[in-house]
Amino acid sequence: RREARDITVGLFRDVGISMPEQRIDAFSWQLSGGLRQRAMIAMALSCKPRLLIADEPTTAIDVTTQAQVLALLRDLQARYGTAIIFITHDLGVIAQMASYVVVMYLGRVMEEGPVDDIFHAPKHPYTRALLRSIPSLYGETRVALPVISGALPHPFNRPPGCPFHPRCPDVMTKCAGAVPSLQPVGTSQLASCFLHHDVVDPA
Ligand code: SF4
Repeated sequence: RREARDITVGLFRDVGISMPEQRIDAFSWQLSGGLRQRAMIAMALSCKPRLLIADEPTTAIDVTTQAQVLALLRDLQARYGTAIIFITHDLGVIAQMASYVVVMYLGRVMEEGPVDDIFHAPKHPYTRALLRSIPSLYGETRVALPVISGALPHPFNRPPGCPFHPRCPDVMTKCAGAVPSLQPVGTSQLASCFLHHDVVDPA
């Protein structure tokens, strides 16, 4: 028990929790959002994972703490050699953290590729729409940001054909009739879209 406690204190120290000897006995509601995230990361690291799945680790924390958590994850990745699957809705976080991006919509992969290609040469209309909706310092002031029309369908009421077709600005007649398969587009990306190929998903 003593040894387990020492290991946990060491892990708390590794993830930047100050006064780990005291904090180890704290209840979760006694910790700030940032400390709770660090404690979660310490718990995950205790298993010495080769792959860490971080599901929205920066949700509901302020931007300063968010920057600290991201720096911590990058540092731990370098130190422990752990691969990280980072799940997030925040494109700014993706730009900072990811080397390879998979863009998903309604549980299906819409596009994937190296982060620079996804941000600078997006191939799928959904990826393009997401990138258009990022506020820019250089954008016109007092102009509403472009949004994706419509709403996300309920998972039990999925549209037929391409799942994005009811909201797609480039929709074609065939898009409602068949599901596009994920296929290579260019040298480094893959996309599920009839704009780039006619391959239908057999599933
Ligand atoms: S397959 Fe059609 S509806 Fe789907 S993303 Fe491509 S153009 Fe839009």
